[in-house]
Amino acid sequence: KKVSDKIAAGEVIDRPVSIVKELTENAVDAGAENITVEIRNGGKTFIRVTDDGCGIEPEETETAFLRHATSKISRAEDLDAVESLGFRGEALASIAAVTRTTLVTKPGDRKTGCRLVIHGGTVIEKSAVGCPDGTTMVVTDLFYNTPARREFLKSDGAESTRIIDLVSELSVVYPGIRFQMINNGRTIFTTSGNGSMKQAVLAVYQLSEYRDLVEVDREAEGFRVTGCISRPSLNRPNRRNQYYYVNGRVVDSRVMEKGVAQGYRERLFEGRFPVVFLHLRTNPGTVDVNIHPNKKEVRFHDDKPVVRVISEAVRQALATDDA
Ligand code: ADP
Ligand code: MG
Repeated sequence: KKVSDKIAAGEVIDRPVSIVKELTENAVDAGAENITVEIRNGGKTFIRVTDDGCGIEPEETETAFLRHATSKISRAEDLDAVESLGFRGEALASIAAVTRTTLVTKPGDRKTGCRLVIHGGTVIEKSAVGCPDGTTMVVTDLFYNTPARREFLKSDGAESTRIIDLVSELSVVYPGIRFQMINNGRTIFTTSGNGSMKQAVLAVYQLSEYRDLVEVDREAEGFRVTGCISRPSLNRPNRRNQYYYVNGRVVDSRVMEKGVAQGYRERLFEGRFPVVFLHLRTNPGTVDVNIHPNKKEVRFHDDKPVVRVISEAVRQALATDDA
């Protein structure tokens, strides 16, 4: 089977947040240290994602917008061990088809950059420009050429909330990247990019009680667990303040929840839940990555070591905090 068949046409740009998701994941994949996301009107009229990553060679800018053009995967077997966030190679094509998109990009070893303007999938302009290293994507006028699809968009506020939530999650899972989120000209948050997940959580959520979160860092059995969790005294009546990530992706995981519960054991009262931000990293071969872009479930080939490593990580962090 060809790679392009195997990956299938799962990609749908249905709302502004889908665009922001693809553009920010591309920026992460490009090795950016700084990523700025700017939106106006819930992203319906304006989205700009700026990164200082590897950039795109001028002669490859148009190729990047072709369907199934990906520089990140070449063999079908690779799909079983996908490490970069993007791998379907159709995001830019899908975005450009339903918007007016401008790409400005320059690899670090080039003197001049390239500017490519695409309206509804058609290249309008390509020119050499002076610009900083990295990539800026400006996406405006979502669904300008398919007005019926605009009807399905929610209010500006609802769309911007989804986008801010997405960028918040990404900022926490990549604390080594400095993220800036700007909505209608107002800076919502800026993370330091200093590598601490707890610092990123504080910068993003700006809750004073999160200052007391306990840092978690444990490596065992081929897993690395990092993040931060609340002391038993700071708990919640539901799991809404729990965030789990596997290999850079936000996931829902009963298995990870179970590990956390076992780690706290009798420290928590029945029906109370700790605040949790936990990132589990492991060899991509030991988990089933969500091939579908919107699915959040994750399946481990073996649940037991996951529960064990997470519960030990939690116990260790709480014990260190007690001492
Ligand atoms: P995918 O991410 O699945 O490869 P995309 O359609 O999202 O597909 O992007 C197509 C290609 O364009 C990528 O494989 C990459 O080579 C290039 N690209 C896109 N965004 C960036 C970026 N911000 N920095 C560097 N290269 C990029
Ligand atoms: Mg991509």
